[in-house]
Amino acid sequence: MIGLIGGTFDPIHLGHLRIALEVAERCQLDQLRFIPGHTPPHRAQPLASPEQRWEMVQRAIAPEPRFVGDRRELERAGASYTVDTLTSLRRELGADVPLLFIMGADAFLGFQRWQRWQTILELTHLVVTQRPGYAVDEADWYRPRLAACVAELRAECAGRVLFTEVTQLDISATFIRERGRAGGSLRYLLPEVVCDYIADVGLYGPGRLAGS
Ligand code: ATP
Repeated sequence: MIGLIGGTFDPIHLGHLRIALEVAERCQLDQLRFIPGHTPPHRAQPLASPEQRWEMVQRAIAPEPRFVGDRRELERAGASYTVDTLTSLRRELGADVPLLFIMGADAFLGFQRWQRWQTILELTHLVVTQRPGYAVDEADWYRPRLAACVAELRAECAGRVLFTEVTQLDISATFIRERGRAGGSLRYLLPEVVCDYIADVGLYGPGRLAGS
């Protein structure tokens, strides 16, 4: 099975990396692809450039052999829609491999606003992890899709929703950008190699505003 985690990764942090690792272990993934978005459709534009975000992802995932960076959204002009990404992945990987798209509870709460979300569920399973501050109520739209265990994901290629417990780390990229802007240390919120890169290129420093 192949896992996917999309995000702005502005910057990638231990919250992303820890849930990715725990899902990879629990679901015995062969590979987990990190897919940074070029232009997020539903939010403010990132502070770091696409290439800087790619570089941070590459450095962060280097120690974990199953983790792989995937540039397809960075190569595509315009908004990064997950449905397009999954369609392109299916073209590459075929119809027979189960895909697991990992998202935090915050992202899942807005999932029905994603472009062509029903089509997304024809292309992948969803694995939803807890995130501090976000509670997901049961709802009719996904109840019939609920998977009770990983084996149920393995038995099909797409269409199921699995909730899974993870070590909850209350870290967000927003908090990191705010800490940086306030002149605070970013250490221990993200991998040391990413901290070093941020310092080297002068990202997220005092006085930086989105897009500046
Ligand atoms: P921002 O604060 O800029 O919105 P973010 O920290 O939420 O960023 P994203 O790149 O937007 O990070 O998130 C990508 C994916 O990772 C989303 O599915 C999100 O729910 C999940 N995620 C991010 N941080 C955590 C965390 N600490 N715990 C669980 N899931 C997380």
